[in-house]
Amino acid sequence: MCGIVGYVGERQALPILLEGLKRLEYRGYDSAGFALQGPVDFEIKRNAGPVDGLVEVSKGLGLTEKEGIAHTRWATHGAPNETNAHPHRAGEIVLVHNGIIENYAEIKERLTASGVKFSSQTDTEVFAQLIEAKRSRLAEDSPGANPETTLIAAMKAAMAEVEGHYAIVLMSRQIPGKLYGIQNGAPLVGSTLKDGALIASDLQAVIPHHNEVSFLPKGEIFIADRDGIHCAGLKVEKIDWTADKVEKGGYESFMLKEIFQQPMVVADTLTGRLPSDPKSPFIWDHQKAHEVLWKNVKRLYLVACGTSAHAAMAAKYFFERWARLDCQVDIASEFRYRDPVFEPGTVVGVISQSGETADTLAALRLANERGVSTFSICNVPNSTIARESSFQYPTKAGPEIGVASTKAFTAQLTVLCALALDVGRLRGIQSARDTEQESFLGLARLPQDLDHILSRSEEFIRIGETLGKQRIILFVGRGTMFPIALEGALKFKELTYLPAEGFAAGELKHGPIAYIDPEVTVITLAPKDEWYQKTVSNLEEIRARGGHLITLGTEGDRVLEGLSDSFIGLPSAAWGTAPILSAIPLQLLAYGCARALDRNIDKPRNLAKSVTVE
Ligand code: GLU
Repeated sequence: MCGIVGYVGERQALPILLEGLKRLEYRGYDSAGFALQGPVDFEIKRNAGPVDGLVEVSKGLGLTEKEGIAHTRWATHGAPNETNAHPHRAGEIVLVHNGIIENYAEIKERLTASGVKFSSQTDTEVFAQLIEAKRSRLAEDSPGANPETTLIAAMKAAMAEVEGHYAIVLMSRQIPGKLYGIQNGAPLVGSTLKDGALIASDLQAVIPHHNEVSFLPKGEIFIADRDGIHCAGLKVEKIDWTADKVEKGGYESFMLKEIFQQPMVVADTLTGRLPSDPKSPFIWDHQKAHEVLWKNVKRLYLVACGTSAHAAMAAKYFFERWARLDCQVDIASEFRYRDPVFEPGTVVGVISQSGETADTLAALRLANERGVSTFSICNVPNSTIARESSFQYPTKAGPEIGVASTKAFTAQLTVLCALALDVGRLRGIQSARDTEQESFLGLARLPQDLDHILSRSEEFIRIGETLGKQRIILFVGRGTMFPIALEGALKFKELTYLPAEGFAAGELKHGPIAYIDPEVTVITLAPKDEWYQKTVSNLEEIRARGGHLITLGTEGDRVLEGLSDSFIGLPSAAWGTAPILSAIPLQLLAYGCARALDRNIDKPRNLAKSVTVE
């Protein structure tokens, strides 16, 4: 959600800021703005709506200014209009802000009583006015003091009063050539360039300029100037993402590109980890500690939100079967406010594409505070969740720009499948159903199998195009196909804005069957697994009530073909990899329907990529 870009150096700042905002668009936002440090005063422009609109209204501006800050806002306090868009000015300073100031109302009341006039409804302006009120008081008390010393003292005093997770970057009229800021729970990445310094709220806006970056340390005020970034405890890290990984590469949307990247992503995620035979250990970054952790585990909580929670739900089946491990799946926004039982031997694993999901981060912190061993599965290297967990099992999906997650999901499932197989081996379990060997081989050939499914993408997109007029789309499956049904429904609602729900097939009779009529499409996942017969019976029940049936099953399944209005035959797959393969047609069905309805594929309305508020 929301994005910050700041530049100071020798180049024209505005093009760098606007290009950075474009790269951050995928995070989700509703308005945008920038401020430049001009020779006479700040040049501030704000616009409700897309960054392209801001680009339009800023034509002819910023020809000489070499310092500025910019922002895409995802409104939390106050309507998404021009007045509430950032930057916000207060006296000598102008500021952009990500996150929330929880106690803004009481501070605003106090400042209003002392005569401060507010021009927006945002919590952000309260923060700006608070810093400015403190700065001007300090300046009055010590008129000869260095303006930088005064500003930093005011920022510190204001930080001590505000509550919440946030990041801010600001400029002062009195101190041209410098940006100041702080990250307090909302990440900021900085990079020292040859000719200046760049700050942004994520890697996407920095990598095209330089791959040596610093994740700004929490709670420390930083200064950026022509010579780079200055901050206590700053570490420079090299990131192996290249700029071209952030481009569309000829596809009509980032999402479509990301769907087609899945074979490569899965191969990258497994490279160097998959042993040559199923009896040998998988190779992880922290082998010894990994072995100790899993040999002593008694209970596993997998905690996540949205799509990542669906990956966790599928993994529950893997861990129970292959590792005979008690695995509980929790939604992070619930887990963090419950009172989960952590007994000796409990391990908490959190899953987040961005590694910044606010609720998932809070769940991780809860587990860390209670002294429980934690691990994370994140896609963004060095993200907050990755850094704060004891172990990482990273996905190597590369930057995911489409808001609706696709390749990060398949990469999460791939890591979880490999991990559960390895934990079963470490615990010396030979599962009664004996699907390990076949699933191990399935993992090894997953990139080819994904390629094969993707070669039929047009067929899936075409079926999707026919679904826009249905009253509701239901997705059903049993076993590992149940979480995939949930994910299919989530993709569908995210992209098309149409009603879609996912169910365990056995639950149909307990309510959802009341929906069924010819305007209802039921998309059923029915591979030839051990639950197949039961699912076929459920299909018969829907058919008997006139529902429109689309079925995904094993190639050559005449029974399903006869029962369904459309049958999608997929090559038979191993038990552990079937969920990964089945997810692909569902992504493309949702894509096809959304495209036919002319939806914004990469940035569905109201959604944000990295959900940094709870
Ligand atoms: N809470 C601030 C606002 O509503 C900042 C939101 C954001 O992070 O974009 O303006």
